[in-house]
Amino acid sequence: MTFNELGLRAEVLRALEDLGFENPTPIQEESIPQLLSEDRDLVGLAQTGTGKTAAFGLPLIESIDFDKKFVQGVVIAPTRELGIQIAEDFKKFTKYIKGANIATIYGGASIEIQAREVKRGAQIVVATPGRLNDMIRRNMVKLNQVSIAILDEADEMLNMGFKEDIDTILDQTPNEKNVWLFSATMPKEVARIASTYMNDPIEVTVGTKNAANTDIHHVYYTINDRNRYFALKRMLDFHPEIYGLVFCRTKRLTQEVADKLMKDGYSAAPLHGDLSQSQRDHAMKKFRDKTVQILVATDVAARGIDVNEISHVIHYNLPEEVENYNHRSGRTGRAGNKGQSISFATGKELGRIKSIERIIKLKIEHATIPSGKEVCEKQLFALVNNVKNVEVKEEEIEKFLPSIFEQLADFNKEEVIKKFVSAEFNHFLEYYDGSRDLNSKLSDRDKERGERQSNKRDLTDDSKQRFHITLGTDAGLNKGAILRIVCQHADISSNEVGRIDLFREFSFFDVDKKFADQVLNGMKDAEFNDEPFKIQFAKSSGGGGGRSRGGGGGRSRGGNSGGGNRRRDGGKSFSGNRNSGGGSNSSGGGNRDRDRRRRRS
Ligand code: AMP
Repeated sequence: MTFNELGLRAEVLRALEDLGFENPTPIQEESIPQLLSEDRDLVGLAQTGTGKTAAFGLPLIESIDFDKKFVQGVVIAPTRELGIQIAEDFKKFTKYIKGANIATIYGGASIEIQAREVKRGAQIVVATPGRLNDMIRRNMVKLNQVSIAILDEADEMLNMGFKEDIDTILDQTPNEKNVWLFSATMPKEVARIASTYMNDPIEVTVGTKNAANTDIHHVYYTINDRNRYFALKRMLDFHPEIYGLVFCRTKRLTQEVADKLMKDGYSAAPLHGDLSQSQRDHAMKKFRDKTVQILVATDVAARGIDVNEISHVIHYNLPEEVENYNHRSGRTGRAGNKGQSISFATGKELGRIKSIERIIKLKIEHATIPSGKEVCEKQLFALVNNVKNVEVKEEEIEKFLPSIFEQLADFNKEEVIKKFVSAEFNHFLEYYDGSRDLNSKLSDRDKERGERQSNKRDLTDDSKQRFHITLGTDAGLNKGAILRIVCQHADISSNEVGRIDLFREFSFFDVDKKFADQVLNGMKDAEFNDEPFKIQFAKSSGGGGGRSRGGGGGRSRGGNSGGGNRRRDGGKSFSGNRNSGGGSNSSGGGNRDRDRRRRRS
């Protein structure tokens, strides 16, 4: 089937041609004709990367009267990154339609500018729930003439505590609208939204329910926690051409891992919510342009990443919520490409691997971390391949060649080759000389525990830390808003937040104790509706009551933070791969030797 056969307007077909879309993807083939021919609700179970933006975007665009200057379609998405991505896609689809206006609405940017975008006559609004609600309250946007409301990544929105915001928004739209809901998974809460707001919806499923994309090869390595970083480095060295995403559990760890990788000479950048928007945009741009090879990210920050060629997703830490494994892995194996999803698990974490296998309905293969020798072989061949394919800039090197030839005149071809390879590669051989086996040997106890834990949640009720914040219902706070603030700022999942008690001027909430400091530090600068507030441990609970959040926040990485400063020459074939020149990889031996000594011990 081609797009021409679907009955889309000529301007859109022309835009799709510019985008290089030739044939609809399966989800587009299934949903577009149905949504064009009938006024129906729809539930789509689909991961990102399946082409779902166009699957809902194209029928939405067909339904709009672009001569009219009021909001007719609204799309709600969990994060600003995803919202921006959807709006950008819509702008591409409508670029030849006269008078088309798409407004993008999200928190953390000027509300006035966004209100102007709406006022200009936007027919479609793409928004995150919190800011949209805010603008509805302030009369900056009206949804009373909306005929189609779309919820994208509904499971993720509920995970982030947007349930009440979604309800409030949908209540603002006319009853006779159609709702199209897309979700990667179908937990009970999403099913509730479907049953509350939809009438006999069309159901479209791409792949099996809750199943992961089969273009992705899933593997895990068993490690000891103290070797996690070394295992990461070894995997990166073993995949010299990697263009990958590394997921870490917290913002702090994300920054630490990225810092270490950069110090060790890898082409890496961090992406997390403690960075300013411009720093995040900059990191994304470098990653998109492939001047950065490895993006180290938190789950939340990585939500909007839409890059098709990602070769590897590495779970430096397994996701807190096993459902997030699919979201993470779905960043690779996109648009028909193959990808690899790599996890590191300690003996204690084997249960989580089992739970993930159940959710994705696929086996995650246990594999052995390659030895130093295997890594060297891989790198050596990557280097040789690179030499074979490198473009020779004849003009630029012409003037140096006579003296180079003269200096090497005493060596024959084999000797020259050996010398060049050694010059490039000796440091690598030295680094891996005598390197340790990083695979942890699992005890039978670990294996049994893994099986047992796979069936049980690891939170117990007495494991909670209670927090007090100086904002309550008078400030417009509700449970959803608290969940959202905690999840966004402390970078934890909503499942870790327990009881919430709201009062007029203050509120309490419980969080699993292991995240207590993370929540305290993470919410240091949090605001609600531009209003700052204070947070502290509530005195009534155990756990060192009354400690207010400190200023600190800075990362301390101890005395041996230096790492290897090792050059990653092997991966040169990747454009802009290593931090060539400049400070970061110029110093050599000392740190590397220390690193090797430590590794051998
Ligand atoms: P999505 O699942 O909407 O995030 O789309 C994943 C990627 O596939 C995006 O980069 C789209 O631009 C691309 N894409 C979507 N539909 C098509 C199509 N029919 N042909 C080619 N690429 C597509």
